[in-house]
Amino acid sequence: MTAKDSKSEDEWKQKLTKEQYRVLRLKGTERPFSGKYWNNREKGVYYCAGCGGPLFDSNAQFESGCGWPSFSVPISDKDVDIKPDLSLDLEREEVLCNKCGGHLGHVFDDGPKPKGLRYCINSISLDFKPVNFQNKC
Ligand code: FE
Repeated sequence: MTAKDSKSEDEWKQKLTKEQYRVLRLKGTERPFSGKYWNNREKGVYYCAGCGGPLFDSNAQFESGCGWPSFSVPISDKDVDIKPDLSLDLEREEVLCNKCGGHLGHVFDDGPKPKGLRYCINSISLDFKPVNFQNKC
């Protein structure tokens, strides 16, 4: 584990809800169409629910029909880590937060042009802040 903002599992259990812990630390998956952001249309930025680092901009979000928030690109490739995931006998690419090592979801190659990628991310791994959030404070 090379994550810069990692904690002990006990510390993560204290910080996260049970369901956040199950997805972010145990690589779980929320049920499709059950999360809070799969059809979010607001403009803003999605941060990591584990460490608060910025991950995805709503400008890169698109409606994929898969039931999870889907993005064509992260804000920066440096924000995410991609690792092969051979669980479930599938060849998938896991997406992790590069800062805390939290599991975010998977990336597939059926996304929109030009890159053709679909970052399929669990809502519960994300924390959305609307673009005008700061103006309201
Ligand atoms: Fe993180």
